[in-house]
Amino acid sequence: MASPFVKKLPLLLLVLSLALSLEAFGADRAKAKTTTCTGCLQRKSGKKAPCHPANYVDPKIKGKYTAALRDMKRFGVEPKITSAWRSTDKQAALYRCSNSQKCRSRNPGLYYAKPPGTSAHEAGLAVDISGVAAGPRGAKRITPKGHKIIRIMEKNGFAWRYGLKDPAHFEANPKAAGYRNLHQAIKKTQTKCSVNLSAKAKR
Ligand SMILES: [Zn+2]
Repeated sequence: MASPFVKKLPLLLLVLSLALSLEAFGADRAKAKTTTCTGCLQRKSGKKAPCHPANYVDPKIKGKYTAALRDMKRFGVEPKITSAWRSTDKQAALYRCSNSQKCRSRNPGLYYAKPPGTSAHEAGLAVDISGVAAGPRGAKRITPKGHKIIRIMEKNGFAWRYGLKDPAHFEANPKAAGYRNLHQAIKKTQTKCSVNLSAKAKR
């Protein structure tokens, strides 16, 4: 003889499966509301769009970066920032270009790009400033303006890491910014968006 519980079992199962599917529906809706951010690019009407503004730097170095820009102004230097954070997709494209003679000759400003997943630009911990050096490749010299920029950037915690090999590049130490290593910093910047395009689209 079936117990009352067994008799009610099909009904219970039905209620349970309904609850689960409702929850899954809710989760899907919640997902649609928040930003999906892979390689720090989010989908906007089928297209990939960056999820940090141009010239974005990690909030942990923002204060020092702003201080450096202020110092430059005080010393009469108007810095031209040519690159700050990059999505991993962008880094991959630059890396491909830097490995192609043809692409490099079309982009003389491109010196050297690290493989995707390894650049401090992907962490928002690096900035490129043009005008630090002048002259033909292989015989570059630091410009007077460049000397000032290097001094000011170093004073504010940005290393002129590759010297004349990549004169535009300045980079903050991930550990000084509170990260275990560069990899952790890249992961954070590439997965947490500071711009929510789906929220913007609703306005
Ligand atoms: Zn750089």
